[in-house]
Amino acid sequence: MTATSLVGVLGSGQLGRMMALAGYPLGLRFRFLDPSPHAPAAQVAECIEAGFDDPAALRRFAGGLAVVTYEWENVPVTAARALQQFVPVYPPPQALEATQDRLIEKQFFKSLGILTAPFAGVEGPEGLKSALGKIGSPAILKTRRMGYDGKGQVRILSADEAPTAWTSLAGAPCILEGFVNFSRELSVLAVRGQDGHIAFWPLAENLHEGGILRRTIAPAPDVPLELEKQARGFATRIMEALNYVGVLCLEMFQVGEHLLANEMATRVHNSGHWTMEGACTSQFENHLRAVMGMPLGSCEARGASIMINLIGESPPRQTVLSLPGAKLHLYGKEPRPGRKLGHINLHGADLTEAQDQLARLARAIGEPVARYVR
Ligand code: AMP
Repeated sequence: MTATSLVGVLGSGQLGRMMALAGYPLGLRFRFLDPSPHAPAAQVAECIEAGFDDPAALRRFAGGLAVVTYEWENVPVTAARALQQFVPVYPPPQALEATQDRLIEKQFFKSLGILTAPFAGVEGPEGLKSALGKIGSPAILKTRRMGYDGKGQVRILSADEAPTAWTSLAGAPCILEGFVNFSRELSVLAVRGQDGHIAFWPLAENLHEGGILRRTIAPAPDVPLELEKQARGFATRIMEALNYVGVLCLEMFQVGEHLLANEMATRVHNSGHWTMEGACTSQFENHLRAVMGMPLGSCEARGASIMINLIGESPPRQTVLSLPGAKLHLYGKEPRPGRKLGHINLHGADLTEAQDQLARLARAIGEPVARYVR
């Protein structure tokens, strides 16, 4: 095996772990860099445990790599740029820059003509008052940086809740967004190769609980061609503007026949986990193909898939595996409330079959199926 098949990944969570597991059959090897010990990817590949801001560690990490990519979008942009001196970095660091700050991200969408909820930057309690005056309530106040899975955000139902909302986010620079009364949440997953070719998986329908993704159905049911076109158009504009290489996910709200962009992930994404068994090529494999300059695989769906996230606790393995159609993916993490521990992919020739699988799973693990239905 040649040194050119070694892929460096910044971050070593479950996304990196699944990326490595998808890359081994392609003859790729992996090296991760992450400050945290006991990371999920460290169980399946070499992992350098060091800070992203440690120049010596970055040099050690880069030695012999064919390419650097990331599985966490909050990797410091300076680290990604420093690595570019030694090795190609994909997606390009400007993609990280565009997504790490929610205000910059929304302004970027707007500059591309992509619709969003009304928004305004908020610097202090007075700023919040005037932003609420402009946007109205209900609204959502979100920290500009480091928010994920519903963390770093608070709903404001009326203007008198503003002071409490501001204090609860500890005075961090924020963005205020109008509350969108959406009919459902959708995401578009796309991959762009080094030659500029873009391929799309079908739209996915997502259900969140407390800001955390609970379940995904793919292909999303009842999607008119026009809606799929809108979503693909948004993703294309973003990828072309950033000269993007790799997988990108755009999360959106459907309102009537229109889509509003909520946020993008410049990496593989939880709402794309169904592709592991539900598509000809998984998001993890196609991300690697793209960053390595290999031809992209087909993104076509095989039948219908439902992905269920295991959050905080996971049902007994025996119970899940007693359902022949259920595919269990555990991330090797210790249970903790609110933590993503794994997911289950269910599959059927069509949506009715996949829903039957879901009903059987819900019965087996003793949960109401209603939890997973919009
Ligand atoms: P985010 O961290 O921005 O991805 O938000 C997490 C979840 O909160 C989303 O998937 C939605 O379910 C909900 N959410 C976020 N922003 C809005 C908004 N402006 N209006 C309504 N719901 C929202």
